[in-house]
Amino acid sequence: MIKFLDNKLFRCLSVFLFLNSSTLPVKSASALAAWELNANGVLELRTKSNTNLKAYFQKANQISGDRFWIDFPGELKNPRIIKGNGPVKEIRLGKPNKGKTRLVIEFKEDTYLQPFSWRLVGLDQNRWRIKLFNRKYTFKKISEGIVGKRLVNIKENQKFLHKKKNDFHYLKLPDVKRNKFLVVIDPGHGGPDPGAIGIGGIRETDVVLEVSKMVKNLLSEKGVKVKLTRKNEVDLDLPPRVSFANNTDADIFVSIHANASRGKRRDINGLETFYYRGWRGRLLAKKIQKQILRVSPGSPDRGVKQGRFYVVKNTRMPAVLVEVGFLTGRLDARRLEKTTHRKRLAYAIAKGILEYLYKIG
Ligand SMILES: [Zn+2]
Repeated sequence: MIKFLDNKLFRCLSVFLFLNSSTLPVKSASALAAWELNANGVLELRTKSNTNLKAYFQKANQISGDRFWIDFPGELKNPRIIKGNGPVKEIRLGKPNKGKTRLVIEFKEDTYLQPFSWRLVGLDQNRWRIKLFNRKYTFKKISEGIVGKRLVNIKENQKFLHKKKNDFHYLKLPDVKRNKFLVVIDPGHGGPDPGAIGIGGIRETDVVLEVSKMVKNLLSEKGVKVKLTRKNEVDLDLPPRVSFANNTDADIFVSIHANASRGKRRDINGLETFYYRGWRGRLLAKKIQKQILRVSPGSPDRGVKQGRFYVVKNTRMPAVLVEVGFLTGRLDARRLEKTTHRKRLAYAIAKGILEYLYKIG
């Protein structure tokens, strides 16, 4: 993956391949029903149900700027070009070949993009979302059609949401004194260092960054102040992570990682949490370990252990390093690639942290 970034010959990066294969006859109309690129840089799509999408990114070359595109089955009627604004040069809808539709977003020259962190997420059977750039760019929404229209009726949808909520019911987060605590969350690795690479190319940096951000949101809702050592794919050494935590005078430090086994053995799975010293660190590790195990049934408990990791050894506050599973393990990897499981892990870690803060007062 590091080579990927530096390689000048690098052409296309498939940011995501999706899902059910429903083959439409060549003559059929485009599966793209509506799209909207919002002011916050989020592209939303509505398609026919269970559509197969492919998304790509290509670095700028002599002919054009950085480009992101998605291919849809079904043929577009009217190819068109829509003038962009802000970081977006233009948006093109075309048919790259017979029976296909392509939505291209071309960016202006000096736009800062992070295609390695992009994920095209399916919201339900016909809706999609991907964040392409951040708010620092002023952008006026461009859209065609209504992306919000749904196939499922509202009642059914509510049932669905309700069920989802219940899923986390047993994990109800404890309350702590608001505005009292400061937690530093440290998503492991980042930038040119992807950390462990697991089955199917799943990368530690992606998993732990997403989980960390979710933990931050959950704790923030409980009035706990949270600082992340990194918010995106940057190269961050270990000493600055430690000095960041020490300088902010955080109450606790939680480094989040995912494991890989030597020889990439698929039969090795499990969760473990490390601390270096003190009963507080150990207590925090125990609280977190207990919760992450609850959301990872069948994955072995590798225990709470003492470990001489740089970040837990050199931080001055109670500090732990959590390994949320093996990216090389068959059981763990399959889960870790899913947002639903990452959410559960985030709940679990947040719960462990809150239980600890509650106890410490
Ligand atoms: Zn790691």
